[in-house]
Amino acid sequence: MSDVPTTLMVFVDGLGLGAPGPQNPIDSTRFPVLAAMLGSAVALDATMGVAGLPQSATGQTALLTGVNAAKVLGGHREGFPNAELRQIIANHNIFGRLQSRGYRCAFANAYYLRDTHARGRLRHRSVTTVATLSAIGWVRDEDYLERGEAVYQDITRELLRPRGYRGPLISEDRAAEHLVGIARKHDFTLFEYFQTDIAGHSGDMALACRVLGILDRFLGRVRELIKAAGGLLVVTSDHGNIEDMHSPAHTDNPVPLFAEGPGSGRLLARVRSLPDLVPALLELYPNRSPGIPV
Ligand SMILES: [Zn+2]
Repeated sequence: MSDVPTTLMVFVDGLGLGAPGPQNPIDSTRFPVLAAMLGSAVALDATMGVAGLPQSATGQTALLTGVNAAKVLGGHREGFPNAELRQIIANHNIFGRLQSRGYRCAFANAYYLRDTHARGRLRHRSVTTVATLSAIGWVRDEDYLERGEAVYQDITRELLRPRGYRGPLISEDRAAEHLVGIARKHDFTLFEYFQTDIAGHSGDMALACRVLGILDRFLGRVRELIKAAGGLLVVTSDHGNIEDMHSPAHTDNPVPLFAEGPGSGRLLARVRSLPDLVPALLELYPNRSPGIPV
């Protein structure tokens, strides 16, 4: 089983591959890690053959299930998944499918459940939350965060301060160490970063650069640590946004698939659109649980 990868997938919301120019903050001078990763990434079609601008609920469902959710719904759906998508996510998500093959999966994001806002968000469940609760059955909370066994969605925990968090803020390097620590204990680990999409919608170039700086430092360290651990790093997105700060809307640009480590060649050769990723990942994990349908 030594050839089965330890995979860390970093899902970055709203990060497309755009032409260079004044609208695109991502350049190699400011964000060398990110620019290099995007430079070596494969371009994925985020429209999934459906008219209109790609959106999060359908894009993320496709990325985490392999089902072309935009085609199923007959359009792109933003924000949170509806009942039909939640059903697809519950039945087909990558966590559940790997677990049924005998592998350990983790969603590394921390949920801050001490305030009512967060509890409300658990009611309005994101694609990743639906996948995690249906397959894994629980989410990492503030106790995990305090032990360094979860990563907050903004990486540094700064956005937790207004919500009552009294613990320390952490560096991108430290957050990367926490994330790779989780990845080393599992066969497949997912982390979701969506400040890129929020910054893209804001139209605020300074905010976009701040967010990209955090992501750049974080991914730089994640990449080093995963490489040292002999793992597979996958970085991808659901649709474009932050690469065109002249428009607050999503873009129809392709999104990057960056992969490095064992199995990366097969992923990069096979995946051309969002729904291609799950089947390609599953090929890297042979069934360890004979008799259980997968
Ligand atoms: Zn968005």
